[in-house]
Amino acid sequence: MRLKGIGVSPGVVAGRAVVLIQRAHVLRYQIAPHRVEQELRRLEDSRVRSREQLVDIRTRVAARPELALLFDAQLLMLDDPMLLPRAADIVRRQRVNAEWAVQQVFQEFSVVFDEVADPYLRERKGDVADLVGRLRMNLRQGVETPRDLLRDLEEASVLIADELTPSIAAQVDWTKVRGFATDAGSRTYHTAILARSLDVPAVVGLHHASRRVQAGQIVIIDGTANEVVLDPTPEELARAERCAEDRRPSAAGDAERRRPASTADGVHIRLDANIEFPDDLAAARYAGAEGIGLYRSEFLLTSGTDELPDEERQYETYRRLLEGMAPGPVTVRTFDVDEDQLASRLMRRPLAPVWEPYEDRGSHQGLRGLRLSLTRPELFKAQLRALLRAARHGELRIMFPFVSSVEQVRKARAMVADVAAELIARGEAVPRVPVGVMIEIPAAAYTADLLAREVDFFTIGTNDLIQYCLAIDRADARVSRLYEPLHPAVLRMIVMVRRAARRRRIPVSLCGEMASDPALLTLLVGLGLVEFSMTPGAIPVAKQVLADVREDELRALARRVLGLGTVDDIERELQTALGRLTLNKGVTP
Ligand code: PEP
Ligand code: MG
Repeated sequence: MRLKGIGVSPGVVAGRAVVLIQRAHVLRYQIAPHRVEQELRRLEDSRVRSREQLVDIRTRVAARPELALLFDAQLLMLDDPMLLPRAADIVRRQRVNAEWAVQQVFQEFSVVFDEVADPYLRERKGDVADLVGRLRMNLRQGVETPRDLLRDLEEASVLIADELTPSIAAQVDWTKVRGFATDAGSRTYHTAILARSLDVPAVVGLHHASRRVQAGQIVIIDGTANEVVLDPTPEELARAERCAEDRRPSAAGDAERRRPASTADGVHIRLDANIEFPDDLAAARYAGAEGIGLYRSEFLLTSGTDELPDEERQYETYRRLLEGMAPGPVTVRTFDVDEDQLASRLMRRPLAPVWEPYEDRGSHQGLRGLRLSLTRPELFKAQLRALLRAARHGELRIMFPFVSSVEQVRKARAMVADVAAELIARGEAVPRVPVGVMIEIPAAAYTADLLAREVDFFTIGTNDLIQYCLAIDRADARVSRLYEPLHPAVLRMIVMVRRAARRRRIPVSLCGEMASDPALLTLLVGLGLVEFSMTPGAIPVAKQVLADVREDELRALARRVLGLGTVDDIERELQTALGRLTLNKGVTP
């Protein structure tokens, strides 16, 4: 069977499916035969612990018979042969993890309860849910993160998930997991960006894959053909294996890879890398990036460990990045999180003043990036201090995300100045650090001339700029077809920002996903951009494509494109002009 989705990271891989159902917080995966006994023991331990807890609660509520009865019922259920013995049977027969077996039993129970006519009995479903929740909680003992859960995978796997948040993706052992597919998501969803950085094939927007794929089933993920193949034929498997072989790094010489990019008529195009983790530095260097054009520092907040990164840990990370990339510059974007992401971190380990989530809000869109940092001066200043202290170890640039006004930039710069003054007063040397902003909200694009007076550089973030310009949620698969980088409004905004930067003589680069599509990259060069930052895996291809085109011809192409009214016409014009190029050269395996 073939499931069609959106390929967000090219390549083909095969493996046994591990299924992650995030919404129910239950991971389903196949266990090795020798792990069955261990899994049954976990189930039994969970039963014993749950019994102890229930007996304890029962004793405490003894004076209230109506409550005590509820726990008597749960204690009886705990010994029901249809519950734990049935779950054990599922573990044995299907060789799946205990959490999943318990979840399956719960589903069986739910069906029965839903069919019962008696409303009193139907409501007992809530009690089963409560008990199952307790069993699951007790199963979690000693299991910290998905990485722990995925630790004992017996062979190469592929991950099938309803959704894969960057924080979960950051915890997966990608040496074992060869690719992933998700029900949710669209092309520029962050997880897709992550897939490209990790260089694993990925297909998103599959809707029901996580329900249709069985744990342990052999699956092919074909990010190039936008599909997931279930139970492939031996021929399809052999083809997938061959493609996986071809994915091994090419033998291009070091000197060749390090050569800066330039067009056929000799215009230097600067290619930097977007990274999420310090470990990605190696990939950036290997790909021949001149610097780091975007370090998404918020990954410090969302990756694995329980601790919020304090100033010292941040300092070490920034220093490592700067030293690792020297003499190339590193642009660190200050935290770009929204309230929810920040609150979920702070609630685990509250900072003073304790974060109080605002319950009544509808959308959480607005308070994000620099806007949120300005409401959390302690957190923001700690990050700025760590950055300014690290600055003497390399070429640092500080960049603010999600900026929509001159006021915000002034406030943020004033905080940078305050922090610098404090450090100098402490006797520390603080070099001058360029401070720039991301242009990713239409308001910023329209006031680029005003913002250009306030900052040292611009970076155009087309991932967000497109979504806010076209009113398309970039993570919503249903409207992903309307998310159109070639929309005339998007192209005009880019030109507007480029002009404002040029008038003020400040550098402007573009770091959205758009840049890693070779066809769009050439058009962007035609629009006058000469600096880009992209996922490291896209850099070698970009270099090859740029070497084949002339900048003067691209300018003429861009002039024609700017006069066209529809995306179709623009695409056609691009295709014709670049016809002699194989646009996806090197991208497809
Ligand atoms: C962007 O918006 O284009 C961008 C690069 O930032 P992010 O994708 O991290 O929002
Ligand atoms: Mg953005």
